[in-house]
Amino acid sequence: MDMLSARQLAGAPGGVPHYIPQAQECALFEHAWRCQLPLLIKGPTGCGKTRFVEHMAARLGRPLITVSCHDDLSAADLVGRHLIGQGNTVWQDGPLARAVREGAICYLDEVVEARKDTTVVMHPLADDRRVLPIERTGELLIAPPEFMLVVSYNPGYQNLLKALKPSTRQRFVALSFGYPQSAVEQDIVRSESGVNADVAAGLVRLAQALRRVTDHDLEETASTRLLVMAARLISAGMDVEMACRAAVVDALTDDTDTAAALMEIVGGVFDSP
Ligand code: ADP
Repeated sequence: MDMLSARQLAGAPGGVPHYIPQAQECALFEHAWRCQLPLLIKGPTGCGKTRFVEHMAARLGRPLITVSCHDDLSAADLVGRHLIGQGNTVWQDGPLARAVREGAICYLDEVVEARKDTTVVMHPLADDRRVLPIERTGELLIAPPEFMLVVSYNPGYQNLLKALKPSTRQRFVALSFGYPQSAVEQDIVRSESGVNADVAAGLVRLAQALRRVTDHDLEETASTRLLVMAARLISAGMDVEMACRAAVVDALTDDTDTAAALMEIVGGVFDSP
């Protein structure tokens, strides 16, 4: 099975969103796509899952249809519904049906948030059948080989009511994402913002220090996304501490004492060489 060559990549239509790999995830994605297997990406928010899927869809030359799942999202929202027009009803495909017809990559972000009835439409698409039955019209869509279902979830948010059922997760090839290794994260911060290597290294040291914090009740910790936001502010000329406060500390907590403690960490990181 051939991996994509640099030449093919450079020639990909519409440009390929910039993505710096953490490990072998690009090869895994490509193998899964070629083997017609669906993919489950696990990882904390802001660690690069969406950018990775955008990058891979472009590399493989497939359209990407992304759905941000929420607790009101139903099977009908994914599959489609009849709309009442001028005196008649017309069927309108939902994003999943459109993706199947177009042979696109369909990315369901935070899939555990969606309503339980969405699993009914995911299951026959995510196993060997690769079909999407549209009950309302009696149609049975057969997924072309290019179609791929990709779902993501954040295990950190998971509670018992919102766990993925074993019968769902065992249909997917799984890929675990974490925050990138220090050198990779520095490259990401630098290339996404234009800050110099010293600032990028400082921001990554800050993230590592914040990720070690356990004595404050933080729901989430500093993600690569927050570092990139801080770096962009700094690159635009904002003072480093102010940027870290706005993009990182205040994004992590509303509590003034916790914010003060986190700002001490910021001061410590940027005072030391
Ligand atoms: P997630 O989907 O996991 O919440 P995103 O894919 O939206 O996270 O990543 C947030 C931001 O972090 C991206 O917009 C990008 O600027 C940056 N980023 C994270 N990982 C990478 C990476 N490996 N290569 C390039 N940019 C990255």
